[in-house]
Amino acid sequence: MKGLLDQQFGQGGIVLSNVEDVLNWARLSSLFPMSFGIACCAIEMMHTFTSGYDLDRMGIMPRATPRQSDVMIVAGTVTFKMADRIKRLYEQMAEPRYVISMGSCSNCGGPYWEHGYHVVKGVDRIVPVDVYVPGCPPRPEALIGGFIQLQQKIKKETLVRPEAVLKALESTVKSVTNES
Ligand code: SF4
Repeated sequence: MKGLLDQQFGQGGIVLSNVEDVLNWARLSSLFPMSFGIACCAIEMMHTFTSGYDLDRMGIMPRATPRQSDVMIVAGTVTFKMADRIKRLYEQMAEPRYVISMGSCSNCGGPYWEHGYHVVKGVDRIVPVDVYVPGCPPRPEALIGGFIQLQQKIKKETLVRPEAVLKALESTVKSVTNES
């Protein structure tokens, strides 16, 4: 009896790929979000991690420390008091790291956008955001949609960052012109 993967890779069982695709595939298939929440949206986030939605099947497993996490889900109202803590946690995370902004509060201040003097009007003023999940609060399905979007983004990542190449070229040109 043949298994599911038999016949999938043609004759001889040889798979051709490149390092970039394999690394991206490994990254997107093993996302480790940091387990922390700051307000009511966090309840929906916790619900998403329960057996009913079973994020483990997508390789998404929460970790209890930023050192072992590569995804930060900002689930809740970001007050100015919390902003420093969020930034510090983000900086402690392993690279490459990603941020999902979950819910209106985190996206833009939510119900506090006009009169909430204590609320940051969008967590993207503190840390770079990769995916925004709308809603107040977003349902678990919406957060799962956010994870799928993030996976699509990681799939297209390039290992060689153009800005790094440009920087290297610039310094080479500078050193050559200084020598001549
Ligand atoms: S977006 Fe709504 S549910 Fe989420 S933290 Fe703000 S007020 Fe609470």
